[in-house]
Formats: sequence, structure tokens, C-alpha cells
Amino acid sequence: MKKILVTGGLGFIGSHICVSLIEQNYSICIIDSLINSEEDNLLSIKKICNLSNNFPKDRITFFKGDIKDKRFLMNIFEKAVDEQKPIEAVIHLAGLKSVNESIEEPLTYWETNVVGTINLLEAMQNYNCKNIVFSSSATIYKPILNELVTENSDLGPISPYGTTKLTIEKILEDLSKSQQNDLKIINLRYFNPVGAHFSGLLGENPKGRPNNLFPILLKVASGEYEKLSIFGADWPTRDGTCIRDYIHVMDLAEAHISALNFILNSSSIFINLNIGTGNGKSVLEVVETFKKVNKCQFEYSYVSRRNGDIPYLVADNRLALSTLHWRPQRNLNDMCIDAWRWKIRSKSKFT
Ligand code: NAD
Ligand code: UDP
Repeated sequence: MKKILVTGGLGFIGSHICVSLIEQNYSICIIDSLINSEEDNLLSIKKICNLSNNFPKDRITFFKGDIKDKRFLMNIFEKAVDEQKPIEAVIHLAGLKSVNESIEEPLTYWETNVVGTINLLEAMQNYNCKNIVFSSSATIYKPILNELVTENSDLGPISPYGTTKLTIEKILEDLSKSQQNDLKIINLRYFNPVGAHFSGLLGENPKGRPNNLFPILLKVASGEYEKLSIFGADWPTRDGTCIRDYIHVMDLAEAHISALNFILNSSSIFINLNIGTGNGKSVLEVVETFKKVNKCQFEYSYVSRRNGDIPYLVADNRLALSTLHWRPQRNLNDMCIDAWRWKIRSKSKFT
């Protein structure tokens, strides 16, 4: 059973990936500082995967710690080697992800995302771990109206967050060139991951006030917020609201399994892949779908455009489809239904 290190494994996307990894018979080691997640997610992962006390303890291990701490990372790789179950590959999600916060606190973002990743790569190099799947983002692209972005589209992030992601991609590319031997690297450029695990036990629960559409929508639909503010009704799109490529978080998790299997079975490689559905939906379409499939009502109003927003960002995902033999299975209805199931379940848990 291969051991995979998942940094940021208790966060929104990481926790869903951990479920898929366990289901695919990997053994996992999770690192998380819990800066934006709860240890409860570990229990939910175990519950979904039916990991009772009878399962070998090393199917899933958790280390609370920070990727900025190089010693901490080295110790984890060393422990795995000592136990004769070295880490075969890393899925690297740990990092900070708020575009707005990155504008306010760029140094924090550079230190966590870039320096943290360099620490991780040094630890991997030290312990001869050659496989990495990195969580990159569609925010690295220069926006173009009404055209799908391919992996070769122009790059031009407009926030420090996006710049840190692009910088990490460049570091990984340099590394792949410097060690001609057998480094295997996939940058997965996520579009807009939303939704939740079908069980309702895992979902997106950011600490503090959310910035993204779905977590806000859930708070509005559940009555925590009075109404939804839609940022702009005058964008050059079919209904005047912005268009994004929303992808179900379990489809995204499954893309990671395919990416991992791909690199574990290939020779040296460096590749960037867009992970989206290729199907853009406007904010208004999301709102109407959410109301319809969940049979709920809430108010929304149009407010001025949000600083830094772009009208249209949708993936050309053909390279990912052909490389990974993966295909998104779930549509916007599923994303809305699963997210709402998670919200209702987690609300009853906390009230
Ligand atoms: P998240 O905040 O839910 O998960 C990130 C996890 O990393 C959290 O559990 C957090 O506690 C942990 N973490 C943060 N800094 C850390 C550090 N220094 N050391 C150890 N752990 C740390 O975010 P997510 O939505 O699951 O995103 C995961 C990754 O995917 C991030 O790298 C993010 O930039 C990237 N990404 C996310 C989206 C999105 O819309 N959610 C889109 C594109 C890319
Ligand atoms: N959005 C909105 N109201 C909100 C939050 C988001 O109208 O309260 C819009 C936002 O302008 C964007 C879309 O929803 O067009 C998706 O926003 P999100 O922050 O989730 O993703 P990103 O903009 O980073 O792609």
C-alpha cells in the first residue's frame, strides 16, 4: 500500500481527496496547521471510509504543523523512512487562498505559499520523494472574454495570491529541468471547486467571513445572512453577471487520483492541466439552480462590481481529459444539492 502525503489534507479540497485516496487503497499521511480547517474533518474522513479501530493505524495519520517549519517537514519524511514506509508522493494543497487577504498581506502569502513550498520540496529532495501533484489555480491566467482558456493561454495573475501560485509552478518547472532524472510533477489548475461529499459529512467551512459565492450562498439560504449581493449586473455576459467554471469537489478529488496514478506509472514528467468542466455558468444561473433544486427561497440584489473580478473564466479541459482519462461526472444540480445537504447537516451539528 503506497503512502501519500497530503499537505492541507483537512481543508475543503484536501479532505475530499483524502476520502478518495483511502477508497483507492492508498495509505495517507496528512499535514495541516488547522489555520483554515478543523480536526473534526479527520473524524468525518474516517467515518465516510468506515475506518474503525480495527483498521491498521497507518492507513491514515495526521500531523498538526506548519509547512513553514522545515524541521517539522523533515521529521515526517524521516519517520516514514524509519518505519520502512517512505512517502511515495505528495499532494500539496497547504496554503492560503484568499485573493482579498493576499492584497492586504502579500508577505504572509509569499511566506506561506512560496517559502512553505520550497521547504516541502527540500524535504522531498532530501528523502528522495519524486512525485508531486500541486494545487494551482485558474487565477494565474490573464482574463479573456468568452474564450476557453487552454494551458497555453496567456498568464497574468492580478493578485498576490495568483502570483504565488504561478511562482510555485515556475519553481517546479525549474526543478524538473535541473534534475533530468525522474521527477514527476503535475500542476492541476483548478477552476471553481464547489459542492460537498454526498454523505453531507464533509464540505466547505472556511474560518471567518467567507468571500466565495457558494459558502455565502449557503449562509443566505440558511438565513444566517439576510440576502446575497451579486457583484455587478452589467458585465458583458449573457445575463450581465459573471461566468465561472464550477466543478464538483468530488470530481476534483477524482482528478487527483487519476493524476497520482498517472505520475506513479510514468517516467519523468512536468505538466500543467486545467481542471474544470468546460461549461460556464453565470452567478444568476447558479442562484436560480440552487433555489430550484433545493426548493428554497432567498433574496438577492445587485451591487457594484467587486474589485479585481473578471467577467468570464472557463476551462478548456481537453488536455486533462485525454491525459488523465478522467471526466467530471457531476453537474451544477449535484453541486447545489450536495452543498446544501452538507450545510443542513453541519448546521444541525453546531446548533
Ligand atoms: P482550505 O483553506 O480549505 O485548505 C487548505 C488547508 O491548508 C487548510 O486546512 C489549512 O488549515 C491548511 N494550511 C494553510 N496554511 C498552512 C500551512 N502553512 N501549513 C500547513 N497547513 C496549512 O482551501 P481549499 O479550498 O481546500 O484549497 C486547497 C488548495 O487548493 C489551496 O492551495 C488553494 O490555493 C488551492 N485552490 C483552491 C481553489 C478554491 O476555489 N477552493 C481554487 C484554486 C486553487
Ligand atoms: N459573487 C457574487 N457575490 C458574492 C460572492 C461572489 O456575486 O457574494 C460572484 C463573483 O463576483 C464571481 C462569482 O460569484 O463572479 C464567483 O466568485 P468566487 O469568489 O466564488 O470565485 P472567483 O471570483 O474567485 O472565481
